Amino acid sequence: MQYPLPISKLIEGFMRLPGIGPKTAARLAFFVLDMREEDVLDFAKALVSAKRELTYCTICHHITDTDPCRVCEDKSRDQTVICVVQESRDVIAMEKMKEYTGLYHVLHGAISPVDGIGPEDIYIADLLKRLQDDTVQEMIIATNPNIEGEATAMYMSRLVKPTGIKVTRIAHGLPVGGDLEYADEVTLSKAIEGRREL
Ligand SMILES: [Zn+2]
Repeated sequence: MQYPLPISKLIEGFMRLPGIGPKTAARLAFFVLDMREEDVLDFAKALVSAKRELTYCTICHHITDTDPCRVCEDKSRDQTVICVVQESRDVIAMEKMKEYTGLYHVLHGAISPVDGIGPEDIYIADLLKRLQDDTVQEMIIATNPNIEGEATAMYMSRLVKPTGIKVTRIAHGLPVGGDLEYADEVTLSKAIEGRREL
């Protein structure tokens, strides 16, 4: 038997999310049908406003509802250190740790020749521009500990080291092949503490 059209559409919507197959999508769709109407409306509004009201910081490319973002705008943060991460989620993981007080730069990806992603496809050029003013003294590379993350770290290190800025790489108490955002706070804080110079 086919689902009525509104349900099929809802199921299709859920199936576009990562890790959701047809069975789970159907389960979620029927769950929504059982929810109170006002809760469904709140949920729908949250989806739309997350998409419409969020933008990317023009300085660090972190996701934000103000531009520049709160981190870039906060002059009490250490302006001499920039931590380079792959995704906005990594900034959120780092901020949860509450030990790092410097700035960030979000690349939105990593160099991956296999997937046809080169340095010009991520925000490396913008980072180099930020490093040109003499304030920054250290760049901490916190890309993921996998092939792409390492390749990106090496590439950036080669570009930045000749400028005299100290280039460090976070230590790998992080699981190899893992994602930064999934590291727990203790591991992450150890990884920053034990960073080594490249
Ligand atoms: Zn920013």
